[in-house]
Amino acid sequence: MTANKGWNQNSIFQAILDRCPVGIAVISYEGNYVTVNPAYCAIYGYQQQEMTGQSFTMVFPEETRASVLERHRQFLDKGGNLGGEWTVKQRDGETLTVWSESVPFVREGERACRLVYVLDISDRKKSQQRMQIAETVYDCIHEAILVCDAEDNIIACNPAFTRLTGYEYEEVVGRNARFLRVPRNTGTAYREMRQSLQKTGHWTGEVWDKRKNGEKYLKELIISAVQDETGKVLSIVAIISDITERKKSADVIWRQANYDAVTGLPNRHMFHDRLEQAARRTQRDQQKMALILIDLDHFKEVNDTLGHSAGDTLLNEVATRIQKHVRAADTIARLGGDEFAVVLGGITFPSGAEKVASTLREALGQPFFIDGEVVFISASIGIAIYPDDSESLEVLFKNADQAMYAAKENGRNSFRYFTPALQQAAQSRRSLINDMRRALKSEEFEVFYQPIVHMASGRIVKAEALVRWRHPSRGLVGPGEFIPIAESTGLILRLGDWVARQAIAQLSVWRREFDPGFQITINQSPVQFRSNDFSDVGWFHDLERNGMDGNAVVIEITEGLLLNAEPGVYRNLLLLRDAGVQVAIDDFGTGYSSLSYLRKFDIDYLKIDRSFVEDLNGVGLDLCETIVVMAHRLGQEVVAEGVETEAQKMLLHRMGCDYAQGFLFSRPIPAEDFTTILRAQQGLPKVDKGNWRKNKLLEEDVHYGS
Ligand code: C2E
Ligand code: MG
Ligand code: MG
Repeated sequence: MTANKGWNQNSIFQAILDRCPVGIAVISYEGNYVTVNPAYCAIYGYQQQEMTGQSFTMVFPEETRASVLERHRQFLDKGGNLGGEWTVKQRDGETLTVWSESVPFVREGERACRLVYVLDISDRKKSQQRMQIAETVYDCIHEAILVCDAEDNIIACNPAFTRLTGYEYEEVVGRNARFLRVPRNTGTAYREMRQSLQKTGHWTGEVWDKRKNGEKYLKELIISAVQDETGKVLSIVAIISDITERKKSADVIWRQANYDAVTGLPNRHMFHDRLEQAARRTQRDQQKMALILIDLDHFKEVNDTLGHSAGDTLLNEVATRIQKHVRAADTIARLGGDEFAVVLGGITFPSGAEKVASTLREALGQPFFIDGEVVFISASIGIAIYPDDSESLEVLFKNADQAMYAAKENGRNSFRYFTPALQQAAQSRRSLINDMRRALKSEEFEVFYQPIVHMASGRIVKAEALVRWRHPSRGLVGPGEFIPIAESTGLILRLGDWVARQAIAQLSVWRREFDPGFQITINQSPVQFRSNDFSDVGWFHDLERNGMDGNAVVIEITEGLLLNAEPGVYRNLLLLRDAGVQVAIDDFGTGYSSLSYLRKFDIDYLKIDRSFVEDLNGVGLDLCETIVVMAHRLGQEVVAEGVETEAQKMLLHRMGCDYAQGFLFSRPIPAEDFTTILRAQQGLPKVDKGNWRKNKLLEEDVHYGS
């Protein structure tokens, strides 16, 4: 190097040293700084004068100082290599990683020094560590990662990608990622992805792909674009998870929440959604929609006698039959139990719904063949029209329900439209239920008695207890109106027991005063038989308490109770028989009569239904005669109900009927009036004529029927 004018070599070297970005220091054999350049000082955070003359170990952590000094001397004595990375400390205590290279520096006659060059590599080190972490994540992560260039050519993939797809790294790198796709979703999903990547640099979604073995799987993709500063896409990183199983179990859960497991039809939850959708469509198209509710009749009997699995089979068959008779676009749902619903959209006239309801009724009335048995059920169907009957879906549903209830009341196997009259009836039914709860407490019920006459002697030997309700605003209400409600609400249990106890108390008086063999007949609802254990029932013990035998009482039941009698019913019947209580079949001939159960259950009386007695001029005559002959063969006695004329009385007497009951003898009357009649029968004077008359009038005021 030629020295310029005005510059000496020393000052040139000094200038280089001062401006050099590499830290440079000369360290004496003893280990003290001979000189340090500004870059060296800057790395450690000291001023030059703070370092010069100090031990170079000052920049090392306490614990390594002795050993670095030792290595320094060894290097100068024996040579070797001191280059590499070192962990050092800045003035403020901050730890740094530096890279250094050392060379011996010898001047004649002096001990060797060490010249050291130092670079701060902390930042590089940190990013190296970050890279290492990223690589480990990339290799170990459960999710597959695929890196492509802007044209979708695969640049890299991780081991999880190989596990997921079956493709090795070498098999995919360099190929275009398109080969992984399946035709199923190439269209929209990928178009969407491109757009979103361009706009935001990200995209998340689900697409179908195929593995190396051809198996298709659903993957969740999280994609990010790596862009340069101008926004140009350099590469695309995709994180892929296989969500086929997760999706499947989510589907299962969704199905369970929305579909009925037995029939596969939408359940109540889904039904409400569909009903809302259908209503919206109806509004938009300015048409009408019908809601048809279907309740199976006698389903419980099938379930009870043939078992639940047969019940399920039947429900399935019912679903199939309903499906066959409505359009595929209409919703069919199972709302629970034996209740189904059909939503018919897009109808112009309500008569369209009527046609469907009528075919459904017809179809469900045909026999079913279940497990080798022939099963007959039928359906009660209620129809409400949207928006005619209500614009509120909740009210519409209630209306259809009321119509269905009316169809059931109407003797089942029929369908009914919702009408305002039905609504009225339903409202009055609701208020009756409330009133009835109160009435039991405030003793508005009353027991009337109707004489039962022994035909041969003409004497009143029994009385049927018939309940009445002295309603504060409606007047005297007949049992036809409130017994069915009491049955459906369970109130019949308390009411029935109350009636029986009243009657038994009354009977004990009449037996004492007039006739120790006098009997009372008490109607018992099937509900009482099914839900009570008679050994726990109040009235049953009242007999004993009043010092009477069981045979003071005749219990009236209907034929339906004996059909498929459950074990509980059977036990109660045996309990009655063991106590000597007699049993009469009420309204005989109107239900499903079978000789076998008349034998099986030890029945004492058959009460011929009023409709046969009314029809004694027609077929009723033969029927009555047959009943009498048959009953006598079975050792039973016969009571004719509803005898209103002398002629009827004569005919019945002639055919051998044992007892008669009807308006001809007396209407049902209050106990005190009945006492008057009994007293008259004894040849005793009547107590109060006026009262008898008054109550006759009251009885005529009773509203019968439902
Ligand atoms: P049921 O047991 O068949 O009672 C006979 C019904 O026929 C009574 O109606 C009675 O008033 C009526 N009747 C009697 N003779 C004649 C007649 O000559 N002509 C006409 N047209 N009708 C006559 P009621 O009192 O309205 O009772 C209706 C039904 O209510 C009863 O029919 C019975 O099934 C039920 N019931 C009455 N009281 C009770 C009770 O305490 N418990 C239960 N579970 N049911 C009861
Ligand atoms: Mg009766
Ligand atoms: Mg009857």
